[in-house]
Amino acid sequence: MMQDLVTEKWEDFLKKYYWNDLIAMSNSYPEKRSLFVKFSEMDIYDPNLADMLLEDPDVAIEAATMALREMDIPTGVTLDEANLRIIKLPRRLKIRDIRSNDIGKLVGIEGLVTKATEVRPRIVEAVFECPFCHHIFSVAQSGRQFKEPVECEQESGGCGRKVQRFKLVVDKSKFANAQKVRLQESPEELRGGELPQALDVNLEDDISGEVSPGDRVIVTGILRSYQRTTQFGKTPFFDIYLDGNSLEIMEEEFEEIVITEEDEREIMELKNQPDVYEKLIRSIAPSIYGYEEIKEAMVLQLFAGVPKELPDETRVRGDIHVLLVGDPGVAKSQLLTYQVKLAPRGLYTGGKSSSAAGLTAAAVKDEFGEGRWTLEAGALVLADKGIAAVDEIDKMRKEDRDALHEAMEQQTVSIAKAGIMARLNSRCALLAAANPKFGRFDKYTAIAEQINMPPTLLSRFDLIFTMMDRPDEEMDTKTAEHILETHYAGELLARSKNIGKVEEEEKERFREAMQTMEPAVSGELLRKYVAWSKRNVFPVMTEEAHKKFLDFYIGLRRQGYEDEDAPVPITARQLEALIRLGEARARARLSDKITAEDAERVINEVTYCLKRVFVDPETGKLDTDWITVGTTKTKRDRARSIREIIKELEKEYGEEVPIEEVLDLAEEEGMEREKAEEMIEVMKRDGILFSPGSGVIKFVR
Ligand code: ADP
Ligand code: MG
Repeated sequence: MMQDLVTEKWEDFLKKYYWNDLIAMSNSYPEKRSLFVKFSEMDIYDPNLADMLLEDPDVAIEAATMALREMDIPTGVTLDEANLRIIKLPRRLKIRDIRSNDIGKLVGIEGLVTKATEVRPRIVEAVFECPFCHHIFSVAQSGRQFKEPVECEQESGGCGRKVQRFKLVVDKSKFANAQKVRLQESPEELRGGELPQALDVNLEDDISGEVSPGDRVIVTGILRSYQRTTQFGKTPFFDIYLDGNSLEIMEEEFEEIVITEEDEREIMELKNQPDVYEKLIRSIAPSIYGYEEIKEAMVLQLFAGVPKELPDETRVRGDIHVLLVGDPGVAKSQLLTYQVKLAPRGLYTGGKSSSAAGLTAAAVKDEFGEGRWTLEAGALVLADKGIAAVDEIDKMRKEDRDALHEAMEQQTVSIAKAGIMARLNSRCALLAAANPKFGRFDKYTAIAEQINMPPTLLSRFDLIFTMMDRPDEEMDTKTAEHILETHYAGELLARSKNIGKVEEEEKERFREAMQTMEPAVSGELLRKYVAWSKRNVFPVMTEEAHKKFLDFYIGLRRQGYEDEDAPVPITARQLEALIRLGEARARARLSDKITAEDAERVINEVTYCLKRVFVDPETGKLDTDWITVGTTKTKRDRARSIREIIKELEKEYGEEVPIEEVLDLAEEEGMEREKAEEMIEVMKRDGILFSPGSGVIKFVR
């Protein structure tokens, strides 16, 4: 087709399909200067032209832009700098599926923005002046290299002489705003363990500066390639990037999850079962034995409370943050991985993440930005509207530790560095695991001290669980039975999968074993159930629930009313956590009311955590200071004194310390001998101390 003919057709198309949009644009031109054309409409108007868009986009879009810019508009405005942008291509290409024959084609690519440079002008038309004849002419700029003329342009009346260097006339040249972003495959598109692939995208003019790291977008653009170079020169390999033509930002968090009518029937059926809540709990990590309370917390985290804006415009998060602190080998990592698989936008990372952005974000100046600063998103930003599972969070960087306060409570990450001032969203729930600094969890030392996390940060978690690996025959047997059973089923499964054979006599046990592993609700249905709930259920507190929460809170606070020196038993933060959890529990039942039962259930859950985390083992009293500031010197409990006494004596005796000596010193510090003995027994039971011989005591290391 002739170029003119194509332009004519586009003109006709725009008049027929986009006349109103054109008038509207001309009224706010040039602030608004992009016309977004739906591909499907061009496909209806002229399938051949639509085909040309896909196959030969450079020519097609240039012709279309020409048509747009030369359009006669009754408002009298000339749209001479307007852009024509194509949106909603029918086929979306995955980054990992891009092949060499896609180069030069128009493609639509969906992904997560992980990095974005600042917006800086790019020269699009460079104007040069000849040093001999002072002729002025321009050279259009595209691609990655700056194009400079070698001789004065004769066609436009220049002298044609060869010149070493022309002078660039900056104020006559034309610039456009430009930004480079990196798109990464969204986590939910990856199948177990695949590493996400990335594609760099150039955005120009009015679509630059529109996205932030953490956004999910669809970019339609032309795939281009450029030759890779190394320090030894050009290589035969080419890299690709996308020349962005249009940009759509995706808002909905559950867009990916399609719920059919049939699904909806199943969801309602599940909802109507009386034990739906228990079923949900039993669907979390069935291969992990026990931990009912933690699994319940994970269910509540999936549903989340209701994010709300209070009448005074304060925003309150609905996301529920959960922390697991515990000994090695108690299935923390396993629980985290499981949750990530269930969550609609789950992301798993280690505290000591390899990227510069870490858990929050960073501004860096590296080769990606080609001279510009780049803002790079970390895990909590990338998990926006999802769940971030951070393993070994105790190993996070100092910068993250500082930024995490804001990221968890306000759910934003602010960066002010060099040319970059930005506030990114981190509206995600955090499921974190931490290993104690000294290898084993020790309930006599404040958690804050053991996991290297400031108390202020700890108080941002709605629920904190401690997981201790203490020998207990009954519990050990049950756990071992469960592990053996699931592994047995796994073995049989592997055999039947690979060689398709299960012995007749094994069949019954196989079925039983499979049952222990099978979640009560399948992962697929559970995800849909959660998505449906988060889209449709916005529960409100009943009178009864309100009263229960109030009674519980005041009941605990009362401890502080009687005695001025009493520790702070519970703070308003925990009350907020309770409300969130109550909302989540109602959502889990797909109920629009938070009932007394919901309140009771989450009060139990919170009490369970408080008892293990906040009760001062010395006084048996609830004490948020216990976790938040640790015990003070004057309140220092016996266990800690004994610990210190033993450490002191180690200097003299080596690792094995005589018990009598410990008791003597304890008495000197004003502790009753009997109480000190008792405490040593408790510490032995807890696996902190043991007696390698009679009359001596030693730390378990
Ligand atoms: P952590 O991260 O706490 O160090 P892991 O998640 O790596 O521990 O767990 C270690 C292994 O022990 C895993 O294979 C896990 O499945 C197993 N395990 C530990 N506790 C349990 C349990 N209660 N039920 C089933 N498996 C368990
Ligand atoms: Mg681990």
